Amino acid sequence: MPGEGSPDSRIMFIGEGPGRTEDLEGKPFVGRAGQLLNDLLGEAGLVRDEVFICNVVRCRPPRNRAPRQDEIKACVPYLDRQIRAIQPRWIVTLGNHAAGYVFEKAGIAFDGITKARGKFDPVQMLGSEVEVFPVFHPAAALYNPSYVDVLKRDFRCLRKRMKESISR
Ligand code: URA
Repeated sequence: MPGEGSPDSRIMFIGEGPGRTEDLEGKPFVGRAGQLLNDLLGEAGLVRDEVFICNVVRCRPPRNRAPRQDEIKACVPYLDRQIRAIQPRWIVTLGNHAAGYVFEKAGIAFDGITKARGKFDPVQMLGSEVEVFPVFHPAAALYNPSYVDVLKRDFRCLRKRMKESISR
């Protein structure tokens, strides 16, 4: 499952890996977590077609377990090529795995999603300057509804940041 969206997007969303529905359809975030992501994009003033959405790993790990390090290692060269090709101004990482990978690639210490979420981190990555914005994974909010408000707040913060960058 390669990901989808606009190659001209200034913003890229990176999830963990396809779930069952995504694996069947070959598209990212089309299951329940995807419905929530669509709503969250609305909070940020965005629609799906104008952004690029992809994942750290490209296949659903058996029984939906978290991806292993060797699986991540096998998949990230494709992700790196997508980042190089799109050269996004912002990378929004969804959940712990995506943030962990992006910060590692940028050579920045990462202390877990709970501490890192909701903050913009300017980094130099794969030859470009990018602002990384980690947020909770939308699927986490399906099990822990108190995360929905946190996610909405973070996506509104994203909206504000994008607006400021246009007016500058
Ligand atoms: N969860 C993810 O991390 N990615 C998807 O594409 C769907 C669910």
